[in-house]
Amino acid sequence: MKKPILYIVIPCYNEQEVLPITSGMFLKKIQDLAAAEKISEESRVLFVNDGSKDNTWQIIQDLAEQDPHFEGISLSRNRGHQNALLAGLMTAKDRCDVTISIDCDGQDDINAMDGMIDAYLDGCEIVYGVRSKRDTDTFFKRFTAEGFYHLMNWLGAQIVFNHADYRLMSSRALREFANFKEVNIFLRGMVPLVGFKSTSVYYERAERIAGESHYPLKKMLALAFDGITSLSVKPIRLITGLGGVVSLLSFIGVIWALIAALLGHTVAGWASTVCMVCFMGGVQLLCLGVIGEYIGKIYMETKHRPRFIIGERTWEDASPDERG
Ligand code: UDP
Ligand code: MG
Repeated sequence: MKKPILYIVIPCYNEQEVLPITSGMFLKKIQDLAAAEKISEESRVLFVNDGSKDNTWQIIQDLAEQDPHFEGISLSRNRGHQNALLAGLMTAKDRCDVTISIDCDGQDDINAMDGMIDAYLDGCEIVYGVRSKRDTDTFFKRFTAEGFYHLMNWLGAQIVFNHADYRLMSSRALREFANFKEVNIFLRGMVPLVGFKSTSVYYERAERIAGESHYPLKKMLALAFDGITSLSVKPIRLITGLGGVVSLLSFIGVIWALIAALLGHTVAGWASTVCMVCFMGGVQLLCLGVIGEYIGKIYMETKHRPRFIIGERTWEDASPDERG
């Protein structure tokens, strides 16, 4: 069997402190894997400069000049981690057989790549890197992050617990993924939608080797909010449910007002006012929920997601984008 070409795809934003250290680690990993005959010598490290304001792009260009295993692309401006990663993966998919995406700060254990490649050679198209524990995180980050995964799963978005964006994807999975045309992207929630044979490898996440995190709380919340609203219309359903509950309470309120009025405990006009307020409140919320339901459907339709992806056939596929 031909040895697969691996592309390690790495988004970088203002990483001049850490790149000179970690680039060597990535290169060594490629050389080791190639020496072990698991991947081709043609494998590359692809950096994506996400509109950095420091020397990051200069460093990437220098690396590419020094060693042919390094390649780089640079976005026209800062578009955020998810978009930068997507740009790298979409560039890599036509140049290789398999990609691994990883952050450039050395937090994710590079040695987990061995297990990922083994799983790929075993026939997996997607391999998720999963953190086995969160000892290096602050209590706050651990609590919010784990709460987020639970919330996402409850809302119906099937994301892999404690998996960020350290993952292997075959070029075949990426070609199918390219058909997900949406603009608001939350990669770790979308990749499982592609399907195919997949598995997880476990690793421990370390501290950043140098530099600072670009994910302050504000950005993390924005990412979480994006993740929820781009994958689930359940929040709208909750409004419908709330409308139902309020309607029921209103119904009880109406009966209570009528009884109070009949027993003569009220001033004139009170019962009719309470009845109207209760009735309108319930009906309005219910109607909002129904309208929301349609908006949710429109929202999902506008994403133009593929309705199915064929995994296997009983005959050889001769389509031009299938590699021999
Ligand atoms: N990153 C990026 N664009 C951004 C922010 C971050 O490409 O706008 C990259 C960054 O260089 C790093 C990865 O995304 O390789 C993860 O960022 P970071 O390490 O700051 O996040 P954390 O690990 O703290 O969640
Ligand atoms: Mg990091």
